[in-house]
Amino acid sequence: MTGNTEVVVIGGGYAGVMAANRMTQRADVTVRLINPRRTFVERIRLHQLVAGSHEAVVDYGKVLGERVRLVVDTVTRIDAAGRRVTLASGGSVGYDYLIYAVGSDGAGPRVPGADEFAHPIATLEEVRRLRPVLDAAPASAAVSVVGAGPAGIETAAELAEAGRAVTLVCGGVLGPYLHPRGRRSVAGRLGRLGVTVVEGPDTVVTAVTRDGVQLSDGRVLPSQVTIWTTGFGVPELASRSGLSTDSLGRLLTDETLTSVDDERIVAAGDAAAPSDLPFRMGCQSAVQLGPQAAETVLSRMAGRQPAPVSVGFAGQCISVGRRTGVFQFAHRNDVAVGVYLGGRPGARLKEFVCRSTVWQLGYEARKPGTRTWWGKDDKRRLLLQDQSGEVPAAAGRVGR
Ligand SMILES: Cc1cc2nc3c(=O)[nH]c(=O)nc-3n(C[C@H](O)[C@H](O)[C@H](O)COP(=O)(O)OP(=O)(O)OC[C@H]3O[C@@H](n4cnc5c(N)ncnc54)[C@H](O)[C@@H]3O)c2cc1C
Repeated sequence: MTGNTEVVVIGGGYAGVMAANRMTQRADVTVRLINPRRTFVERIRLHQLVAGSHEAVVDYGKVLGERVRLVVDTVTRIDAAGRRVTLASGGSVGYDYLIYAVGSDGAGPRVPGADEFAHPIATLEEVRRLRPVLDAAPASAAVSVVGAGPAGIETAAELAEAGRAVTLVCGGVLGPYLHPRGRRSVAGRLGRLGVTVVEGPDTVVTAVTRDGVQLSDGRVLPSQVTIWTTGFGVPELASRSGLSTDSLGRLLTDETLTSVDDERIVAAGDAAAPSDLPFRMGCQSAVQLGPQAAETVLSRMAGRQPAPVSVGFAGQCISVGRRTGVFQFAHRNDVAVGVYLGGRPGARLKEFVCRSTVWQLGYEARKPGTRTWWGKDDKRRLLLQDQSGEVPAAAGRVGR
């Protein structure tokens, strides 16, 4: 390819920022990052914003390379044939390559009353809408957190530490990802903070009202403020644009993160579904997928075959209030093991992870392409083999 290459990145979260920064290592590339906000959102701190212990935003100047042009807007449609994206403010932007990194949002409560009375906290705007509701509720008001994945646990703990009367409604098991030992540690700390944990198969919330949540076992728990954290969905942009997606709406790609429909489009982060075998949504995978999506584009520009994706997981790091945490270690293929780091060291490690994630983005901005962040999971190759009955060509090589 000769002349200047236009690269558009949709979404300025962990994956999009990493991808945009990495693209700047070539002088003949113009990188435009389109994002609806002027500030970077530290989504992994949104539970802190709920309780008021952190603002969960960072200036893009700290994490984005100088050569990345930030376009504050929302993409409403991708015209793959015309290589152009339409913007909500009007107008459009053309591209040679497109990196799709729109992330995730709330899965959307689908029980009666939830739309009206439950508050999701998957995005900055949702949390900002919740804050005045919490501020207006008396300190003694019953607060329910529905969903006991990491976001639910962290939110419940944070609010209890701030003096709120919190019930964590699990709808199943507490912390499904956790090994029983890690789970006991989380449960013990939640108990000490005064969180009432409602667990078991019959604790699925079936309805939400102004002042309560109804469970599948018939119980009604008082709840003046109900917070909804039962999982993530993804924006509909890819499917709305006629691109192939998985059942959740993530862009379907091959193992090089390239859209199965179009070689000029690659995906990263929560909104990517490589080989229809997506990685667990999280900033842990997003910071590894972002640069690899950029590497795929850089390889194509250089006339090289892009490498298959490789993502390794260390585990799950959960803060349980400001003073305690649990780092649940896992195999590289993301299955929890019986080892965890709890207590204050767990909390310190979680804080280190949050800070170092922002640092990683900034490092990639200053020195694009000089470090490789991603781990390695050889078991993915076997999973792909199981899925298709054969090893996909691109999956035969691991690493860059
Ligand atoms: C409370 C909470 C705690 C969490 N804790 C952890 C944790 O401890 N560890 C962990 O690994 N993960 C955690 N996560 C999950 C993690 O935040 C996400 O998985 C991660 O942010 C995904 O990164 P991403 O870059 O794919 O997307 P995002 O960070 O979601 O960024 C996507 C960006 O794209 C923008 N966008 C969307 N649509 C468009 C459009 N049409 N046009 C332009 N821009 C668009 C969005 O506004 C956003 O800025 C947590 C999430 C929450 C809510």
